[in-house]
Amino acid sequence: MSSYILEMKNIQMVDLHSQYLKIKDEINTGIQEVIDTTTFIKGGKVKDFQQQLESYLNVTHVIPVGNGTDALQIALMSLGLKPGDEVITPTFTFIATAEVVALLGLTPVLVDVEFGTFNISIESLKKAITPKTKAIVPVHLFGQNADMEAVLAVAKEHNLFVVEDACQSIGSVYTFSDGRKVQSGCMGSIGCTSFFPSKNLGCFGDGGAIFTNNEELATKIRAISNHGMVIRYHHDMIGVNSRLDSIQAAVLEAKLKHLDEYTASRQASADFYDAAFADNENLITPARTDKSTHVFHQYTLKLNGINRVGLQKHLANMGIPAMVYYPVPLHLQKAYQNVRYQAGDFPVAEKLSECVLSLPMHTELSEEQLEYITKNVLEFVR
Ligand SMILES: *Cc1c(COP(=O)(O)O)cnc(C)c1O
Repeated sequence: MSSYILEMKNIQMVDLHSQYLKIKDEINTGIQEVIDTTTFIKGGKVKDFQQQLESYLNVTHVIPVGNGTDALQIALMSLGLKPGDEVITPTFTFIATAEVVALLGLTPVLVDVEFGTFNISIESLKKAITPKTKAIVPVHLFGQNADMEAVLAVAKEHNLFVVEDACQSIGSVYTFSDGRKVQSGCMGSIGCTSFFPSKNLGCFGDGGAIFTNNEELATKIRAISNHGMVIRYHHDMIGVNSRLDSIQAAVLEAKLKHLDEYTASRQASADFYDAAFADNENLITPARTDKSTHVFHQYTLKLNGINRVGLQKHLANMGIPAMVYYPVPLHLQKAYQNVRYQAGDFPVAEKLSECVLSLPMHTELSEEQLEYITKNVLEFVR
């Protein structure tokens, strides 16, 4: 087989193997060091990575934890909310965002999103606020920050906590109208991220982290993630066990050094897709705002009058994967069906769930692969 055909056969949604091969020595050396020192939990590597991430993000406290879902749960636990308190999240997101709210006995209040950016609708957010509202969890979906200036203004007016779900947006930078530039996850009271392997900064298993500039919250978050313990075997509050292990930290330490290159590579692929689809009215490319950079965790098209299943099948026949993120908004998920919501409540999210399609997006896409993908998409759409 020619190398061209081999390369096209190898198109994946996320190509972690090719990425690994490029920095294999750095990663293997780090992992070997952990094995040689046998400090698998709370080793020096975790501390090193924590400090490197603090300096990358320009945030006072990074608290590494077991995964992104734990990060969200622990963040909410640290706020001292009472059962029945309301937490607002967008309905068009990954389930974890609302799941942790429900698990803690808090009430998830869902709101709609903007069609262009997929992010929380400020209008919908304002309408959802009640005297019981205590926190907003905006999600920076697919790698672009939500309209945080507006979210923070609403939060300030109503005295609410803001917990950012930055699981898809690490490295994305938001510019406030006074010119201040802040990293994703570092604008609200607390930010949460995930190091799941396919995330923009992914490890070789599960991992996550919590960010905050608030000393008091940081102390509480550290304790909660470690069984509510400040002094050894003295438990001041009910906590959980959620840790990033040293082997994952070694992988992340190596990959953090390359995060900006990785982001640039994703952005170049997104630019290629944008240019290829610009003149086609059946394909709506992702909206980009001037307020935030986009780190393209996903490149998500909106199909206008095109059969999504048909396009997905056509691409699959040509060896091109394409995925629907997300096919069912949270308010229509079985687990969240209660008297509160019904079909029609959040028309934008419902429309999106019917028309979105995400194309392969990762750090190792070649120009030949991008040409092949876009050519095959356009072939079906025309
Ligand atoms: C991945 C993800 C999470 C959960 O992260 P895990 O590490 O898989 O627990 C939460 N929210 C969003 C938006 C995500 O993409």
